[in-house]
Amino acid sequence: MAFLKVAKSGTLSLNEKSRALADAGRQVYRFGFGESPFPPPRRVQEALRRAAHRQDYTDVAGLPALREKIAAFHHEVDGYPIQPSQVLIAPGTKPLLHNIMRAFQPGEVTIPGPSWVSYAPLARLAGHKVIGIPTAFEGRWRVKPEDLERAFLRHRGMDCHKLMVLNYPGNPDGLTYSYEELAALTAVLRRHGVWVIADEIYGLLDHRGQHVSMARLYPERTLVTTGLSKWCGAGGWRLGALILPPDAPKALHDALVGLGSETYSCAPAPIQVAALEAYELDSELHGYLAAQRRILRAIGSAVHLALAKAGIRAHAPQGGFYLLLDFSPFSDRLVARGICSDSQLCDRLLADTGVALLPGGAFGMPSGSLTARLAYVDFDGEAAQRDGERIEATATEHAAKMLEGIAALRKWLR
Ligand code: PMP
Ligand code: GLU
Repeated sequence: MAFLKVAKSGTLSLNEKSRALADAGRQVYRFGFGESPFPPPRRVQEALRRAAHRQDYTDVAGLPALREKIAAFHHEVDGYPIQPSQVLIAPGTKPLLHNIMRAFQPGEVTIPGPSWVSYAPLARLAGHKVIGIPTAFEGRWRVKPEDLERAFLRHRGMDCHKLMVLNYPGNPDGLTYSYEELAALTAVLRRHGVWVIADEIYGLLDHRGQHVSMARLYPERTLVTTGLSKWCGAGGWRLGALILPPDAPKALHDALVGLGSETYSCAPAPIQVAALEAYELDSELHGYLAAQRRILRAIGSAVHLALAKAGIRAHAPQGGFYLLLDFSPFSDRLVARGICSDSQLCDRLLADTGVALLPGGAFGMPSGSLTARLAYVDFDGEAAQRDGERIEATATEHAAKMLEGIAALRKWLR
């Protein structure tokens, strides 16, 4: 008799490992786990306190009032019409991604790389074949329409649902797609009838506030996932939302609700009530979002600059809080020290310096690529928020611990 083989997700296991090292008194530079450093808005926290008495199960799809709020909110910020019936709420987007993959049967999932740690495992758990499309540093890790076309032509004629995951601003690359780039991809996707899972969980953290939702360009087959984990600083609260296409097949909707009912039942009622407050798009919330974007831009540039000075290649970040580091300029030196893969690199770094990075292999990169992801979230978000207009001047102070970690990394590389 055997058991299902499923490893603990790289993000969560590194988080636990770093915490254990820190608890044991080791200096750890926590670049490994992508968790928002900002607290949820105070009024949202207060709403959660007031909702503690809510012990009821809500509808599987979520509180009707919240589905309405989320529809109106994303209509306003993303500029496309959404009916509340298109919105499904769940305890995080991860179970939604799992259930979406399960609902499309049979299916195959195209994932342009590098890509977030959980997409490929979730696709495989649903029994799907995973088709990776490699991208390059020189092309800013963007998937090109011609590469997509080639991948779909190669798999033409297979009688199954074609799904593709598109995540931007991206985890692990911190980069986004322009309207024009998305339009070129859409032409290919439409021609091949592909369903897109647009993971836009970092959309509101586009550093310039210029996120373009895929649902605007490809409304008929885009499933947008989003939620409170990133822009609202509430990852551990577990609230995710899915926005289905306006004419999604009823069978798809029913499958998703059915799967939700047999697994998580509903998102926690108190969290949903607090989310009603989070999705209240007024000037205070606009200010909260604008401040986060400005802080992440300032701190992301400071960290990127320090890495560039150390000779480590990475693209300047455009959204979210990640950088994908390329250590290939050091490959000869690293090989001479017996380090030939991304995981050897990250293991040795953590052991020698306390710098915790996640190897590129966790994001679908070839292990010989000597890439790793850095999350620049090890700072006091609340203190940075207090700095307001001065943040560009004080970014390096806020980032001091991270800059110290990069200095240790630099020294180690020499
Ligand atoms: N997508 C991406 C790209 C992520 O970084 C994460 C990590 N939180 C998730 C999805 C899952 O988010 P949630 O907390 O909503 O499950
Ligand atoms: N998304 C975060 C990351 O990539 C962590 C949360 C998770 O993996 O569920 O580090």
